[in-house]
Amino acid sequence: MHLTIPIDSPFSLYTLPYSIFRPAVGEPARAGVAIGDWVLDLAALEADGVFDGPALRGQSIFAQPALNAFMALGRPAWDEVRARLLDLLAPVARNAPVAPEVAHALRPRVSVELLLPANIGDYTDFYSSREHATNVGAMFRGPEQALMPNWLHLPIAYHGRAGTIVAGDTMLGRPHGQMLPSGATTPVFGPTAELDFELEVGFFIGSGSRMGEPVTIDKAADHIFGLVLVNDWSARDIQRWEYRPLGPFLGKNFATSISPWVVPLAALEPFRCSGPHQDPAPLSHLRGAENWAFDIQLQATLQSAAMRAAGLPPLVISRTNFRRLYWSMPQQLAHHTSNGCVLRPGDLLASGTISGSTPDSYGSLLELTWGGERPLVLPTGETRSFLEDGDRLALSGWCERDDYRVGFGEVAAEILPARD
Ligand code: CA
Repeated sequence: MHLTIPIDSPFSLYTLPYSIFRPAVGEPARAGVAIGDWVLDLAALEADGVFDGPALRGQSIFAQPALNAFMALGRPAWDEVRARLLDLLAPVARNAPVAPEVAHALRPRVSVELLLPANIGDYTDFYSSREHATNVGAMFRGPEQALMPNWLHLPIAYHGRAGTIVAGDTMLGRPHGQMLPSGATTPVFGPTAELDFELEVGFFIGSGSRMGEPVTIDKAADHIFGLVLVNDWSARDIQRWEYRPLGPFLGKNFATSISPWVVPLAALEPFRCSGPHQDPAPLSHLRGAENWAFDIQLQATLQSAAMRAAGLPPLVISRTNFRRLYWSMPQQLAHHTSNGCVLRPGDLLASGTISGSTPDSYGSLLELTWGGERPLVLPTGETRSFLEDGDRLALSGWCERDDYRVGFGEVAAEILPARD
């Protein structure tokens, strides 16, 4: 069997992202790797005895409905599996047929059901884009106090809700909540009128840490399994009324979407680069992780129901890049554990909204429309300050060389009307 991979496929020979899938209704979930338009069934390969290196020999890691056990094994196991997969798939680069045991384990990607890649015990969302924090601060508190005094000294975050994280393409009902209408003195309860997205990238914790033992910044890489796209859905009117003094709560925790394929850190190594200069210099526990930015192109698209009906393609409403993030993943991880807070395999740490410096590179509608002051105009003539029922919002991300991509695929949702 010959495998061909389209040049613009996010899942080239160099991506090899992991997820959990069900081959058909009623069949048990298991781990897989995406390659072109196919999914390689890792449980089938494991049963064939393909993973016979020292870290995995004799283990049953992939016939499970979550990647947590594989994540917990640590970098030697991740490196061993990736090297074995690259070896098994090497014929693809030569346009030669793959071995029978590989052909036997391939499933068409369109035919499988993708599930959450891990049991996510804890979810933390950072606030690490300086441009985003400055924009939101300017809108909520005025330009003089845009950046809070602590922002340049530590990666700010809030604890999110792991139970409402969903993977892949979904339908999202408009949430209800309490808010204070403009000019009113008493709050009301009802469907949010300011439903928004946040374009983020998150990473999964592989091997965990022990309670009371900080992970130093130079050890952070050993704990980072891989990355996904994250959409931290936000209801701005609910958020604005509730967020002081303890931060985001019901304006955020009704849903968070992630892309189902986890791109291993090893796949992103060729796209590593230096991030923004940090001034003032961070305190010592946050120092020593230069060149921890990654050149990942990111975009958000919007397609209204009327655009779909007219056959119009989704409109790109934002283009930005992960390399712009001020606080890096090792800094986030080191700071998170600096008080002894524990990390467990499968925990998700997200970046916060990634905004660039120009208005077409902002990672939320709040910023793109400047709080609704400058609505977007769609090709149908419709305008958007925030998301309307029937809108489909999608995020995608990829790294690029001349002849291949290392990509994340897409994470999207269509907005449904609020429940009665
Ligand atoms: Ca966020």
